[in-house]
Amino acid sequence: MEITAPRGVRDILPGETEKWRFVEGVAYNLAKRYNYREIIIPIFEHTELFSRGIGEATDIVSKEMYTFEDRGGRSLTLRPEATASIVRAYLEHHFEQKPQPQKFYFFGPMFRYERPQAGRYRQFWQIDFEALGSPDPLLDVEVIALAWDLMFSLGIKNLEIQINSIGCPKCKEGYKIALKEYLADKLNLLCEDCQRRYETNVLRILDCKRESCRSIVEGAPKITDYLCADCKNHFEEVKEGLDLLSLPYILNPYLVRGLDYYTRTTFEIISYKLGAQNALCGGGRYDLLAFEIGGSMVPGVGFAAGLERIVMVLEEEGLLQDTEKGIDIFIVSIGEEAKKQAFKLLHILRREGISADMDYTNKNLKAQMKIANQKKAAKVLIIGEDELSVGMVKIRDMDSGKQEEVSLSDVLSYLRRWKK
Ligand code: ATP
Ligand code: MG
Repeated sequence: MEITAPRGVRDILPGETEKWRFVEGVAYNLAKRYNYREIIIPIFEHTELFSRGIGEATDIVSKEMYTFEDRGGRSLTLRPEATASIVRAYLEHHFEQKPQPQKFYFFGPMFRYERPQAGRYRQFWQIDFEALGSPDPLLDVEVIALAWDLMFSLGIKNLEIQINSIGCPKCKEGYKIALKEYLADKLNLLCEDCQRRYETNVLRILDCKRESCRSIVEGAPKITDYLCADCKNHFEEVKEGLDLLSLPYILNPYLVRGLDYYTRTTFEIISYKLGAQNALCGGGRYDLLAFEIGGSMVPGVGFAAGLERIVMVLEEEGLLQDTEKGIDIFIVSIGEEAKKQAFKLLHILRREGISADMDYTNKNLKAQMKIANQKKAAKVLIIGEDELSVGMVKIRDMDSGKQEEVSLSDVLSYLRRWKK
């Protein structure tokens, strides 16, 4: 086959999709419990939304976006993340007129032109929670608690919450000067990207994944020492809230996250089980994002979790074994007339809410039983010519191997009783 899926893009195959749905189901239930309502945002947006919202000098905007011109000459971009779109939707549909905060849940694929590797793809899935319209530090705590609860509900252990505050633009200005001063005589030790970042967006150096840059960053001044009184207070209240709920966290003064829109709180949940791509989810507060994309000031806080990485951890920890369920019934039939009866019965069973399938290959009994096994059927209905002539079918329980004869007219009530 010459045509394969593009690089970094995967098919989620049967067998895997069940795992996807399992995680999505847990997230959806949590959204209900925490009162975050589902929103479905467009797959592409005006490029400007992301370049203004996420920031021109970020990796995402400068080199990871799938941007194209449509037939009307507009510049459009496949969404690389959900927050900017959700804030856009909030503004566009006047959610500021409703009681605040307004809370949203979203689940869907994102697109980034990155170097594909384990846990890093060009199309990947995110679960996203956003709370808009309140600067209350307890809302930051709620969002972190929700992210933690998501991992807990999935059964994932060996996790760490890292938090930081990167302050407001005022705090950032002072910090940037101090950081530049610290890095000035170490420039030649930084990677090429970071040398560029030194000029364009020095905070981004803290987010570099290279070991050599990281070791330099370790001795850098801490942004938390540069917070203004308001931002400092806000951060103190976030930490108090986390303590109130007994949520374990580690302070990481170098956690800035890959998007420019963050203000004050940033956080990540890290898994010890993943290698370099160890962030299961990340988020924070973005009080200026709505304003940056042309709206009014709407404070907000949220996070996104990567589905591929969550599934990787679940697999590694053996937490997904039962997700691939078989069907209730597989009907095996021998002969033309029996096949017709099987087909009719199949339709009745399905309409009855019983998951069922039958053989379409006309193979012999043994071969059909093998298919039933592969489909993990709980019971097999066997309709042969002999059985049919006396109006009976055999029902075999695949677990115990026990076999019973039931009259064709009683099959439905028999299976109804069994399904209860
Ligand atoms: P990273 O630091 O790993 O590049 P990021 O800071 O770019 O992540 P966000 O944009 O905040 O991540 O996205 C939130 C989550 O989405 C990440 O924690 C991760 O689980 C997942 N994620 C991000 N990029 C990818 C990707 N290319 N492939 C798979 N999952 C991803
Ligand atoms: Mg990234």
